[in-house]
Amino acid sequence: MIRVGVEVGIPSAVISGQGIAASAGGKRFAVPSSFTAQAHGANVVIHGKSYASPVILTSTQPIRCGKTAYEGEIVLRAQGGRLTVVNKLDVEKYLRGVLGIEISPLWALEVLKAQAVISRTYALSQMGRHSSQGFDVCDTDHCQVYRGVNIHGATTDQAVIQTRGQVVTYRGTLARTFFSSDSGGATSDIRDVWGKPEPYLVVRREPYPSQSPKAEWEATVTAAEIQNALAKKGKSVGTLREMGIIQRDAAGRPTLLRFTGSAGTSTLTSAEFRMLIGARKVRSTFFEFSRAGASSSSAEQRVSALRSVEQRKPAPRAMAGAPLNAEEKEHLRALIAQKKFTVDERLDMLMYPERERFYLNKALGTVQDKTIVPHEPEKQPAPPQADVEENKPVRASAGVTSVTVSGTVSLYGRGWGHGVGLSQWGAKAMADHGWSAEKILNFYYPGTVIQRR
Ligand SMILES: [Zn+2]
Repeated sequence: MIRVGVEVGIPSAVISGQGIAASAGGKRFAVPSSFTAQAHGANVVIHGKSYASPVILTSTQPIRCGKTAYEGEIVLRAQGGRLTVVNKLDVEKYLRGVLGIEISPLWALEVLKAQAVISRTYALSQMGRHSSQGFDVCDTDHCQVYRGVNIHGATTDQAVIQTRGQVVTYRGTLARTFFSSDSGGATSDIRDVWGKPEPYLVVRREPYPSQSPKAEWEATVTAAEIQNALAKKGKSVGTLREMGIIQRDAAGRPTLLRFTGSAGTSTLTSAEFRMLIGARKVRSTFFEFSRAGASSSSAEQRVSALRSVEQRKPAPRAMAGAPLNAEEKEHLRALIAQKKFTVDERLDMLMYPERERFYLNKALGTVQDKTIVPHEPEKQPAPPQADVEENKPVRASAGVTSVTVSGTVSLYGRGWGHGVGLSQWGAKAMADHGWSAEKILNFYYPGTVIQRR
């Protein structure tokens, strides 16, 4: 069992569901199919009656709290006039409420299974993280995003069922199953990102190109942004004149950067640089200073694969719109929770956030266009690289290793995320080429074992 904090410190909660059985202090009492629970001091108040905290709700049907429905038990706890809602349920059921957010339910079953195993491993290693608040894990990305039965799906549920109890272990203990969206072709060594080494989180060159629509990116960083970043670390160099890559990992990913300015020279790891400038702007540390340097042959394949997909898409620009504000985002989230969109549409939104407005308008009935078909990932045959299983050092990229800074620096990168551990887009390509979940996990976490817990 796992206890998930789904609401923390709220004044009241709207609960609904069929056949809810309520109890407090071992005594059962009747509740209607919809009611509001409030906190008064350390008591839970329902329909004017006060009950000693905690109040436990059970049903054979999912119980709804606000917009989300949950399997298992709902525990209402009052403290200091504030309510905490905890969903207590079987870990396997919990994972079904996690997986549909972590990964696209449209992808091949073996990649979904690999994700199920690492999400389970992560969940078990997070047990008790919030024990001071009376639960094990929260439902945000601080632990893992969890949305109850709202995001259950046939394929993701299957992935959880078929991997029941399986976790990744290293020398008998739960492994640190980090993952990222897209490694850009080779994973990062955890030591280069967070400092502490781990024998199974090392550089791995992927065998197949990723078909992520965002496999490549460009960013323009100003000298002022870099100067501010250096100042924050107490490493000011005055007016920035030059930026260079002075160290790379075995796959050619920059790991150490040097900055030269009017007042001296200093260094940052590329991971520090990415976080200081902003992880959404500098999407990965796998970047170069020239477009030619950033394009590997596999990157070129990705681009041509993408172009062929793009050409088949009807009027993609028509779907682009201004970013949603916070209120509109909340509205869209509610519509997603109400299953107003198909899985294809949800995937399309994830891939193209600029289309969120289009989908919001469509759901609200302000767009009538029925001709638009969401993008579907395509399988493209791609030959595996020769030294796939080896971790041979490769020649440093042919790209420029330093640039003179006059106002701005252009970065040309690939991949998205820190790159440590499993790459979702890399794993998807492997599954599309027939790899099993176990083979994928053994690739990304070498030396680990899959065990049943
Ligand atoms: Zn948390």
